[in-house]
Amino acid sequence: MHLIVAEKNISARRIAEILSEGKKLTEHKDAGVSTYSFGDTTTVGLRGHVVEIDFEPGYKNWRSEESTPRSLIDAKTIKIPTEKRIVALLQKLSKRADRVTIATDYDTEGELIGKEAFELIRAVNAKVTIDRARFSAITPQELKHAFSHTTELDFALAAAGEARQSIDLMWGASLTRFISLAARRGGANILSVGRVQTPTLGMIVDREKEIEAFVPEKYWQLSLDTEKSTEPVEARHTHGRFHEKPPAELARDRTKAPLVVTDVKFSEKQDRAPSPFDTTTYIVAAARLGFSAANAMRIAEDLYMNGFISYPRTDNTVYPPSLDFEGILKTIRNSPFKKDVEWVMANRRAVPTRGKKSSTDHPPIHPTGAATRELLGDDIFRIYELVLRRFLATLAPDARWKTLKVLFNAGGEEYTATGGQLVEPGWHTVYPFSEAQETILPPFVVGEHLPIQKVNLEEKETQPPARYSQSKLIQRMEELGLGTKSTRHEVIAKLVSRKYVEGTPLRPTLVGRVVTESLEQHADMITKPDMTQTIEAHMQQIKESTRTREDVIKESRQMLHQAFDQLEANEAIIGDDIRGRTAEEMNLGKCPVCKGTLAIKHLRGNTQFIGCSNYPECTFNIGLPMAQWGFAVRTDEVCDKHHLNFVRLVRKGARPWDIGCPLCHHISSNAESLAEIPSMNETLAQKILAQHIYTVAELARSTPEALAKRLDLSPESAQKLISDAKSVLEKLRRRSECRKFMRDHLIPRKGRSYAKILTSLKSAGITELSGLAHADIGMLKAAGIGEEEAAQVLAEAKAVYYGQVLKAIGIPAVSLKKYVAAGITSPEAFCDQPPESLSKLTGMSPATVQRHVELVCTYLKKPVPKKFSKQQIERGKKELLAIKGIDKAMIEKLSRAGIINTTLLFEADAANLAAETGIMAHVIQDFQKAIQKKRDTAVIQI
Ligand SMILES: [Zn+2]
Ligand SMILES: [Zn+2]
Repeated sequence: MHLIVAEKNISARRIAEILSEGKKLTEHKDAGVSTYSFGDTTTVGLRGHVVEIDFEPGYKNWRSEESTPRSLIDAKTIKIPTEKRIVALLQKLSKRADRVTIATDYDTEGELIGKEAFELIRAVNAKVTIDRARFSAITPQELKHAFSHTTELDFALAAAGEARQSIDLMWGASLTRFISLAARRGGANILSVGRVQTPTLGMIVDREKEIEAFVPEKYWQLSLDTEKSTEPVEARHTHGRFHEKPPAELARDRTKAPLVVTDVKFSEKQDRAPSPFDTTTYIVAAARLGFSAANAMRIAEDLYMNGFISYPRTDNTVYPPSLDFEGILKTIRNSPFKKDVEWVMANRRAVPTRGKKSSTDHPPIHPTGAATRELLGDDIFRIYELVLRRFLATLAPDARWKTLKVLFNAGGEEYTATGGQLVEPGWHTVYPFSEAQETILPPFVVGEHLPIQKVNLEEKETQPPARYSQSKLIQRMEELGLGTKSTRHEVIAKLVSRKYVEGTPLRPTLVGRVVTESLEQHADMITKPDMTQTIEAHMQQIKESTRTREDVIKESRQMLHQAFDQLEANEAIIGDDIRGRTAEEMNLGKCPVCKGTLAIKHLRGNTQFIGCSNYPECTFNIGLPMAQWGFAVRTDEVCDKHHLNFVRLVRKGARPWDIGCPLCHHISSNAESLAEIPSMNETLAQKILAQHIYTVAELARSTPEALAKRLDLSPESAQKLISDAKSVLEKLRRRSECRKFMRDHLIPRKGRSYAKILTSLKSAGITELSGLAHADIGMLKAAGIGEEEAAQVLAEAKAVYYGQVLKAIGIPAVSLKKYVAAGITSPEAFCDQPPESLSKLTGMSPATVQRHVELVCTYLKKPVPKKFSKQQIERGKKELLAIKGIDKAMIEKLSRAGIINTTLLFEADAANLAAETGIMAHVIQDFQKAIQKKRDTAVIQI
């Protein structure tokens, strides 16, 4: 079998479709992974990297004494499968294969992915022939050529990719850990540092500092308005910017009619057709259409995988001589741009345009297939159109402009106006995305006089440099050698997702800035592009086989160790600096109670809340959900009413949870419980809010005097309000206890919603544990709980609830345990049997049991069973044993029914006693007869 390994499933399918050429193509699924077979050939797609590198075990614990952040520099790495099912299938297929062709993307990353597949295949099949197919577009022509001209895997190229992976892991992991630990940040709040990411952030921070340091300078510009053949014309003073006001004013005052045309110069300007797209110029052009860099790349990859455009990761701006322009034009003539394609076919320039960068890997990005809007959808189609039109433009003739420069004189002051007219639109015909604008001036004749309608003296200011847009940043990264064509847009996306930069254009956040500046101060090698450029140069050397991967990694380790020498020496300073300066990002605004500062506080163990800077004098606080539901951060939005920043809970991989204004949230989430206070009314509600009392608990905690004064109430009403609040608080406590009980005792199931179950119980009137303990099983079943589970929940609810009741009655916890162990769980059970038997069952003394029974029965308003002394019990036992047929086991049974002597046995109702003890009624009657006999002969005293 011939196995073809593609980079992704979609390319595996496309390759199979194209290579099968009408042969029957079948798709198989193996553990969810597709393969495509025709004849003796099978294609399978990877998911990019199917293995990843990580440190060998033992480096997971951040706070370990042995594996310090620095130890990660020299830590050994291993490869771990990340796509286990794909790896398993690849190896299974490889065992049967007699030839394997690696057909991953044609660049460093693709070569490395290919090498990873190579190693997995070799591990199970040492003999199979493995070759490599390289192509820049998934089109019939390219693929047929690539598969009939396969070569070897380029191990040098893959090694460069591997070196980059190792170095990135080592830099990123060790520095991220170091900085995060120094700043005492963990979990979702870590401070990430990266080899390319950090210098990129450094550029954004530097630009921001330039903007802040910028001192605008005033300047003046002089212009005048005139008119020719009823067309308004504006002419500018030829001096340009005046840096002082007086000379500008002087020039203005000297500008006097008539305005005389002194010169008219025509010239022609060639407007060269644009050069072909490489990744960077493509991203810049897509940005003008409103696509972010990451989005533009994602769409381009999509188009590539589907055979509509060539491989979009390329540094090449020169078409290779082998590119079949004729063929491409014919293909794309079937797209909706037929007219434009045909225009280019008819007007083609002799040689296509070329850019400055020529490399041998991929051709510049160009269309390879015909697509329609219906097929792609609006957004993808716009990108397809951009690539297609750019290709057409590179084959179209240059454009020609006619320019006109007119000089005027007014009172000795010279003015000028310029115009431009597209006389031959050339490539503009097919490429409407450029910004060139025509300015058409009316005809002027030297010597003619024109009116001066107005002289304008404008005061202006010099502007600071602009912030980076994503595409500008990518251009700048490329100039500085930061990252690669494949990674630049990802680096920027990471900076955004890690909250180091924000906005369009990009500006650093406080954390982004603080981390950068702190690193800059102590180990600027990490924040400057130089180090990254050095490493990029090393990658190139590995590709060219002039240096080994190991050698390059070794040098990188040395660089990193140097950085750590500086960092470790300043760890405390760096940590304090970052913590001190980022504390501000947690501030929300003024405390409503004391005008201190409210801030989000994160404690150990996922607890987070909003507290006041004047704690403990001011105890105002707002609770927040535990951090596992989302790490609380501040947003830029501010509440109109409370002037507090909004709070958002962010969790990796989940949509953020917006709390909004924390005080509005606090008020609304407490409104319902406050309304449960019987004496609450609208006026009082307003009053307590005005006094910054937001919760029932705060009311319950108050003293009557203080509350009366604060709310201007009579002491009696204040007292009433407090006791009302206390009972509402108790009710709330019981409700939340019931909710917690349900959550703890119901097994989480797919599709099970606790909220739904709780709502259903609530509508049945069950909100507290007492209700649940006495609930009918039907109610639980109606709430969607199965019979068996419902019975179990009820039993547990009873146990918990009765335990609480008994504890409240006064049964000590230690004794309670003994009762529960003996099966005595409900209060009723205490009064249903004689204390003597309880004593026996639990092993507690009869006196203790008696005390407990008295407590419970009094509480239940039931008669307290008679109590017997130890002596009485002993004496009664003797009496009973004297009766023929009564043995110790029988006495046991009788005592459980409260029968401890012959008198009681004699007085008992035989049928009832039989039912209670299990002794046959006629046997009891026999005993009673025997007692009667004895009574007849002796006097028995109790
Ligand atoms: Zn306060
Ligand atoms: Zn608010």
